[in-house]
Amino acid sequence: MSEQKINTKCVQAGYTPKNGEPRQIPVIQSTTFKYDTSEDMGKLFDLEASGYFYSRLQNPTCDMVAAKIAALEGGCAGMLTSSGQAANFFALFNICENGSHIVSSSSIYGGTFNLISVTMAKMGIDVTFVSPDCTAEELNAAFRDNTRAVFGETIANPALTVLDIEKFAKAAHDHGVPLIVDNTFPTPVNCRPIEWGADIVTHSTTKYMDGHGACVGGAIVDSGHFDWMAHAEKYPGLTTPDDSYHGIIYAEKFGKEGAFITKATSQLMRDFGCVQSPQSAFILNLGLESLHVRMPRHVENGLAVAEFLSGRDEVVSVSYPGLKGDRYYEIAKKYLPNGGCGVVSFELKGGRKAAEGFMKKLKLAAIETHVADARTCCLNPATSTHRQMTDEQLAAAGIPAGLVRMSCGLEDKEDLIADLAQALA
Ligand SMILES: *Cc1c(COP(=O)(O)O)cnc(C)c1O
Repeated sequence: MSEQKINTKCVQAGYTPKNGEPRQIPVIQSTTFKYDTSEDMGKLFDLEASGYFYSRLQNPTCDMVAAKIAALEGGCAGMLTSSGQAANFFALFNICENGSHIVSSSSIYGGTFNLISVTMAKMGIDVTFVSPDCTAEELNAAFRDNTRAVFGETIANPALTVLDIEKFAKAAHDHGVPLIVDNTFPTPVNCRPIEWGADIVTHSTTKYMDGHGACVGGAIVDSGHFDWMAHAEKYPGLTTPDDSYHGIIYAEKFGKEGAFITKATSQLMRDFGCVQSPQSAFILNLGLESLHVRMPRHVENGLAVAEFLSGRDEVVSVSYPGLKGDRYYEIAKKYLPNGGCGVVSFELKGGRKAAEGFMKKLKLAAIETHVADARTCCLNPATSTHRQMTDEQLAAAGIPAGLVRMSCGLEDKEDLIADLAQALA
């Protein structure tokens, strides 16, 4: 059979029951697993045999869902984490250590920005931020001898910039390091970064993948393309013996396709324990089964709302990569031909007062810090996430006081537009 379409993978990948087995993925609600002999178990501890022994490292339910996400992204291996934050931390820390340097797009999720610029800095890992719109020369100039990874978001949350994945992948590979792309907003239904040269893909599954605002979670997928051994001096963690596993060399023993995820699981998960629960993984999988049906509706609603708002006098500007005239419209056509996501941001005339009054009048769209689930919600950064900042500071950060971020859900677009119209009136 030829390679399955993404729609089929959303429904079927990751678990194929055998004769008489449960149709839905079983929730293996067990911390531990039983073995007949200590020898059997010893082989697992030595990574000589694969199997389960403790759910902090691996759990069958989580692995089935990780395998589905890996299949959706076109990767060779995947793992679930407790959150998107844990996924991005593990993806970076798996190949960076004290003394390493990261090149990152400056247009990324605030939590990831803090993670890299504050917390990882305390671990002795430096970062150089570059604009996602930088030239190839500017990008190349950001690299140093100790650069170990390049990072960006396909569609950035909340700025809605679109990453030129090929440009970032080329610069990364010219410098012998992998590109890590956070693909949370478009999901693999709308963009598969590995097809454009990304080496590792991360997700906050909390967003569209779950899609119902039910469970916090994350995922990492490895393409299996990056040749760690060819850059062995940069990645001693993958290419020299791991003393905590009797001298195993991950890149040698597990090859290009197995090294990254095996190390992240057996080292980072063992030591940090940011596991996703099997219950959460089961709920995430329910979301994944309809991801390909939901994403087109999020896109349809996002575009309809963006088009409506861009024609209104009360609105200064609208950002939505799928909207004609948007700064990222052309690049979005290349990387997101079927649309990106349902998140739209717009600036209202009249600053934070206007935004506050407008949001108070909304009936369908709820005020939440969340994005990317079935119910439409919105947020005014100036009066919530960024409320400690003055109007001047907000302007300097590129977040006008009247900015509203709206995450269009799965409702009927006519109802969403009617809600906006009455709130603007
Ligand atoms: C929400 C988000 C994260 C963080 O994910 P959590 O699941 O909240 O930890 C990371 N990246 C992006 C793009 C996000 O939107």
